[in-house]
Amino acid sequence: MTGGDWLLVLPAAILGLALGSFAGCVAHRWLAEVSILSPARSFCDSCGRTLTWGENIPVLSYLLQNGRCRGCGAPIGVRNLLIELACGLWFGILAWRFGPSWAFAVYGAFGWACITAAFIDLDSFLLPDFLTLPAAALAYPAAAWLLGRGWLEPLIGALAGAAFLWILRFAHMRLRKVEGLGLGDVKLMLSIGALTGPLALPLLFILAGVTALAAGVFYLRRPDADGLRTAVPFGPFLALAALILIAWKG
Ligand SMILES: [Zn+2]
Repeated sequence: MTGGDWLLVLPAAILGLALGSFAGCVAHRWLAEVSILSPARSFCDSCGRTLTWGENIPVLSYLLQNGRCRGCGAPIGVRNLLIELACGLWFGILAWRFGPSWAFAVYGAFGWACITAAFIDLDSFLLPDFLTLPAAALAYPAAAWLLGRGWLEPLIGALAGAAFLWILRFAHMRLRKVEGLGLGDVKLMLSIGALTGPLALPLLFILAGVTALAAGVFYLRRPDADGLRTAVPFGPFLALAALILIAWKG
């Protein structure tokens, strides 16, 4: 660990908020099945009005508008705000923890993809390939060369992590006859395992399992709950556990 610089925390957090605003846009457009590229400018879901630049300022615009569209008054939804705050917090933590470094860039990009994927998973129970596969393809060379872990350790981490989830998925389908873990979780695990390394995996799965169980209590109270068969997306908890371990151990 090189150690971060307090003076960089605020600019890094602001960078995170801006990237979080983009993440919110990506998640929203993916969930709404709208093209990510066009229209280029953000718009209101209810009235279709193109947003002004002021309405695209992260967090602040939400607070100033009381979470409503200025044109039609429709509620904006809290997802974008939470994504922006999560990315801002993550980039602030990285600056404090690692300072300007390859670790900051690699974990920043990884965290951005994780947070975007996690919020999509919370809504749709899907982890889209357009996030998990590039993350997997980039995480391995980044861990091996940019973070100096060598070629073997990230490879074992990625394969062992994905294999463990794949076996859990297989066992669950055999025993319960329903899909408990998606293939998206297995794909996400490739990038997580490459970056955390094999030794962190036991703790990672414990952390993800415990937080997912705790959240399961919340999901049980939803109107569409189905007793012990109630589905809980696992991706957000894998992502959360990965970010906690990276911030903690580096
Ligand atoms: Zn509107």
